[in-house]
Amino acid sequence: MTVLFVVAMEAEAAPVRAALGLDGDGVALHASFPARLWTGEGVAVATNGVDARHGVDAIASQPAVTTTLHAIEALSPSLVISAGTAGGFQARGAAIGTVYLADRCVFHDRRIAIDGFDRYGVGDYPVRDLSAVATDLGFATGTVSTGNALDAPDHDVAAMAATDTVAKDMEAAAVAWTCEHTGTPFGALKVITDLVDHHTETAEQFLANLHMATHRLATAARLLADHLRTHPLPTQESSP
Ligand code: SAH
Repeated sequence: MTVLFVVAMEAEAAPVRAALGLDGDGVALHASFPARLWTGEGVAVATNGVDARHGVDAIASQPAVTTTLHAIEALSPSLVISAGTAGGFQARGAAIGTVYLADRCVFHDRRIAIDGFDRYGVGDYPVRDLSAVATDLGFATGTVSTGNALDAPDHDVAAMAATDTVAKDMEAAAVAWTCEHTGTPFGALKVITDLVDHHTETAEQFLANLHMATHRLATAARLLADHLRTHPLPTQESSP
């Protein structure tokens, strides 16, 4: 069994790799993209790498797809986990540092008000049932919702309320879509860096809490990998 953690930002990935005992610089995943891969015993981490033109981490949905696809082709993992930080909602019980495992994964910004395309936009991708693992490890569960913006305009807030979103990120649903197409079980592990329904600006909260949240993410990833090693998941159809 190989668990592949797909991580967008190097600040998130470095503590995760350290917690999983993955050293070194990794290897390039594909000649045309900056993504990198680290592999160990039953565990691997892929990052999106740094965008060559802009000099920042290649976050958001497009790199998430290519990184996930190339890592799946390289490793045939038994489970892919989109791991990272996310915005949370005080109104739905979150605090800075809350750890979530997804039980549903959607997009909140693909608004297409045409019958059929509306549901395609939301996505609602298959998510592996990890509820027993979440209970054992003390992680909360709920909907992880993805969009290509750090801010949250009213339209997006309404969409996330409709899906009872607990964690707002910029990659998980893109990873999930790739997993659906390749028949790879998918999960998402998210730690809250900022509260969407708090008056302080999101970017300010994010930067203030990033260090603490990424260390929590690393601990959570290690606990999850160890748990899956000692309690292998039963074979199961993924369900939306
Ligand atoms: N402003 C940051 C850039 C990171 S953007 C910086 O200066 O370093 C946010 C990243 O963390 C994305 O990869 C996303 O998945 C996650 N994230 C954390 N909080 C988020 C939120 N409130 N909304 C969307 N994504 C969030």
